[in-house]
Amino acid sequence: MVFKQFINGEFVDSISGDEYEVTNPSNGKVVDRVVRGNVEDARAAIDHASDALKRERVTKTNISRILQMVSGLIRDHETELATLMTLEQGKTLMESRGEIRSFAHTMEYYAGLKARGSQVQISDSTKLAVVEKEPVGVVGAIVPWNNPILLMGAKVAASLAAGNAIVVKPASTTPLSTLKSMELFKEAGLPKGLLNVVTGSGPVVGEELVKNPKTRKVSFTGETATGKRIMELASVQLKRVTLELGGSNPLIVCDDADMDAAVNATLNGRFRNAGQGCMCIKRTYVFESVAPKFLTRLKEKTLSIKVGDGMKSETTMGPVHSKSQRSKVELQVNETVSGGATLLLGGKEPKDPELSNGSFYLPTLVTDVNADSKLVAEECFGPALPIITVKDIDEAIEGANASIYGLGASIWTKDLATAKKAASELEAGTILVNSLYGAGGWEIEVPMGGYKQSGIGREYGIEGLESYTETKTVIFGS
Ligand code: NDP
Repeated sequence: MVFKQFINGEFVDSISGDEYEVTNPSNGKVVDRVVRGNVEDARAAIDHASDALKRERVTKTNISRILQMVSGLIRDHETELATLMTLEQGKTLMESRGEIRSFAHTMEYYAGLKARGSQVQISDSTKLAVVEKEPVGVVGAIVPWNNPILLMGAKVAASLAAGNAIVVKPASTTPLSTLKSMELFKEAGLPKGLLNVVTGSGPVVGEELVKNPKTRKVSFTGETATGKRIMELASVQLKRVTLELGGSNPLIVCDDADMDAAVNATLNGRFRNAGQGCMCIKRTYVFESVAPKFLTRLKEKTLSIKVGDGMKSETTMGPVHSKSQRSKVELQVNETVSGGATLLLGGKEPKDPELSNGSFYLPTLVTDVNADSKLVAEECFGPALPIITVKDIDEAIEGANASIYGLGASIWTKDLATAKKAASELEAGTILVNSLYGAGGWEIEVPMGGYKQSGIGREYGIEGLESYTETKTVIFGS
């Protein structure tokens, strides 16, 4: 089967006729073929999106009702979509199912949300001002491979709910579940051209979405280095950007923490999706008085992780998404260990011959880590965790904040004053106190985004919707 692009309500070939193969990270086998779009395809999709918006000024479709219907259809097709995502991305089927449910929830959440303006009486005058929230226009959305459906869904639902048209570019390695889901938008009756998906490479299709004068906003999720490139390109036209970028979320375990809960949060926070989540726990700071207990329990639990093909029911951690991604993690671990750290667990590929064609990497724990080692200083987008012991909360917060990233941070303590101090002093867009991010999926109702080099702007929540609007002030004279 060859998956086609979704442009102007139809599944179409690429203008060049090019195709490529999408492979399964668990075994290297071809999952399916997909057409490869280029600049011309992106331009066509943007033109159709722009025309669709003009038509919508007259038709004024009830988008909320359509999003609600799409939500139901996604639930009806959970198994089909989740299976496709596991085959192209590698995560376990259970994780894929969770992501599809969150995708459905995102649609119903934004179906019920409206951007709100306001009325303001101007001082010393009889004038009345109305502050309106208007759609920004055509949105270009660029999505990574780690949560292909969920991250696409957040951009699509919020921008459509705000009255925009959107052109999505999925990651080259995970376009299949996204394209499959377009059948559901079509079935729900979304007017043609309001939602389009163009496949193809980032520097070609992605950059066209940023540079094309008809796109008014770019919503990008991916690496910080790519985000900087996009911001540079967007600045030429002062285009609106939302950038959801890399993170190196720290987790602090205090001496009074509920130890089992903290260990479970570390385990789940680090190893779900094989460690490939922006909100994954990527550094742990544990008080030295409880470090031996914490490490013993964490090691025991980590050993129980069953690495394997995401389609097998016994698997609890799938492969790293690609061999090149695994090489990056391997390099970070190897350089950190050769710099003096201790490898407590993992640090290599599994021996099982059945897994030899996949990009698997064992869950890895590293202790005695220097603050300037690669595992601490860089984002580790894979199943390896550095554990750093600290004297007290001040040292923990100082270490946690000594990063170029500021996406999320968490603390485990029973003391309210310590929790409040951490919540106030940690430099991150989301702070979790005795909690794990999105344990059952995603926290769609609240804004998410980064401090520092983790990004600009927020997605999810009402803030996510408003990021796809322009503010217009209309002043009425008396
Ligand atoms: P990349 O930045 O490599 O790619 C992301 C997307 O951008 C892909 O669709 C890619 O296309 C495209 N792209 C690549 N180069 C360009 C370019 N020059 N112009 C326009 N688009 C381009 O990120 P990854 O796919 O490796 O994703 C992992 C990263 O995403 C991690 O750093 C992670 O932390 C971050 N992330 C952040 C989240 C957040 O909310 N803050 C959430 C999830 C992930 P192609 O596939 O063709 O290369």
